Amino acid sequence: MNRGLRRSDISCRAFLFVALFAVTEVRCASAESIWEEFSGENAFTHAKRLVELGPRPAGSAALEKSRAYITEQLKSFGWNVSRQTFSAKTPRGVMTFANLIATFRSPDRRVSPSFLLCSHYDTKTFDTISFVGANDGGSSTGLLIEMARVLATQPTQAAKTELVFFDGEEAFENFTETDGLYGSRHFAGELRDSKQVKWFRGGMLFDMVGDKSLTVTLPPESPANLASSVFAAADALRVREHFTYFDRDITDDHTPLNAIGIPVIDIIDFDFPAWHTAGDTLDQISADSLRIVGQVALYALAHSELK
Ligand SMILES: [Zn+2]
Repeated sequence: MNRGLRRSDISCRAFLFVALFAVTEVRCASAESIWEEFSGENAFTHAKRLVELGPRPAGSAALEKSRAYITEQLKSFGWNVSRQTFSAKTPRGVMTFANLIATFRSPDRRVSPSFLLCSHYDTKTFDTISFVGANDGGSSTGLLIEMARVLATQPTQAAKTELVFFDGEEAFENFTETDGLYGSRHFAGELRDSKQVKWFRGGMLFDMVGDKSLTVTLPPESPANLASSVFAAADALRVREHFTYFDRDITDDHTPLNAIGIPVIDIIDFDFPAWHTAGDTLDQISADSLRIVGQVALYALAHSELK
């Protein structure tokens, strides 16, 4: 009986070894095609959860709940999350903002972040309409949370990135030197002052990436190498018809980063009729659009930026 047990123990070990080997094989396969792991449905669900919190303007209780949601999700995938809290003068007086910054520890602890992946998570303040920003604020944040989950399956790749969720992207009035881009201006200023700009070779910013009628309109002044790798990824994944250039430049959270010398591409669909209207609701965005953008970005990262 003992022998019998031992024998079955041995065969069980052999089976486990084979099973482990098989799992390792599967993992290797997914390292080569990490983009396939990205789920548009997951990204959509995150956007939905945020929209369900209602309007999420800077300084609101709903935005604090957004921070808690994003943080909880990222931590569940193994990311370390910190808050970069600061105050700034706005047309509505001095306000407090908080960026969320997430990093991943590599298995050998030798890899440090060299590429930024960003989204803003606030929604624009409106006094007269209920603005929930399903696409503008919700979609890119949902996408970045899902990217965090997928990247975490490849810890060395994840460790090369720093995820930044910007507060206060929206202007209270109009974009000026002192209104709008509060989070990214502060983040860029901190990098410059602490002499950390050289740590980053580039970045991708996502904004309004869920429009069910998807046309990503890259700013004409996008960093050329990043634009090339996005177009090449779109070609390879046969979704090139969803990507083009916008007819003029765009001011967004990539602007302060470009100004300090970090080339960041703004992956944005500015061809969005419901932009800054009460109609920017969940029915305007689709899981499929989120999947297209998420997979193209991960393909580009795997083939160029994180190589
Ligand atoms: Zn906006």
